[in-house]
Amino acid sequence: MSINVAIDGPAGAGKSTIAKLIAKKMGYIYVDTGAMYRAMALYFIRNGIKPEETQKVSEKCKDADISIAYRDGEQVVLLDDENVNGLIRTEEVGNMASATSANKNVREKLVELQKKLAANADVVMDGRDIGTVVLPNADVKIYLTASSAVRAKRRYDELVAKGEKADLSTIEADIIERDHRDMTREISPLKQADDAVLVDSSYMTIDEVVQTVVDLIKKIK
Ligand code: C5P
Repeated sequence: MSINVAIDGPAGAGKSTIAKLIAKKMGYIYVDTGAMYRAMALYFIRNGIKPEETQKVSEKCKDADISIAYRDGEQVVLLDDENVNGLIRTEEVGNMASATSANKNVREKLVELQKKLAANADVVMDGRDIGTVVLPNADVKIYLTASSAVRAKRRYDELVAKGEKADLSTIEADIIERDHRDMTREISPLKQADDAVLVDSSYMTIDEVVQTVVDLIKKIK
């Protein structure tokens, strides 16, 4: 049987950093589900669809061809066979993803793809609904969080390091808004699964968080 590790939590909690390191350490495949919602969002932006046009979102999502490939151990998201990894990390795409991920058809399509990826492989999958909806029988479930101030500062530092302009209070306001939307949407809201382990990384180093999760995985093996 394959091992499934689910990591959920709000924006900027460090899920992808942690999940990637765990995957590397354990020899598992890392699946970044947020990237799939982002690729879908890019598709809507390219087709001139606005987040509030819910009918169009419901219909057009069926035409988006989204798939995942692995190149040099890195997950690559393909939109109509184009590698869009370099285009989906903007605030515009993130906000569009947050808005359109509330759509039932969008979720059904991407959840199906995610389940398939986890069926036959050892995976660490991160997102918002992995422990609750996508992989309810995951072997290890983590709910990774940190205060909004800490998460905003991390994102701010990331942008500054890339040489981009950033405003800390705007970033924190965006994070709070996105959390609210993700936690209150009707379908698959972000919440801690009953059997998930809560990890608050506000005052933990990356290594400490990774070790905490690796210890949990080793316990079940
Ligand atoms: O994690 P990331 O910021 O890349 O996710 C972008 C957006 O996609 C999130 O704000 C969330 O609304 C949505 N998402 C989701 N379910 C997931 C992963 C991401 O709804 N499993």
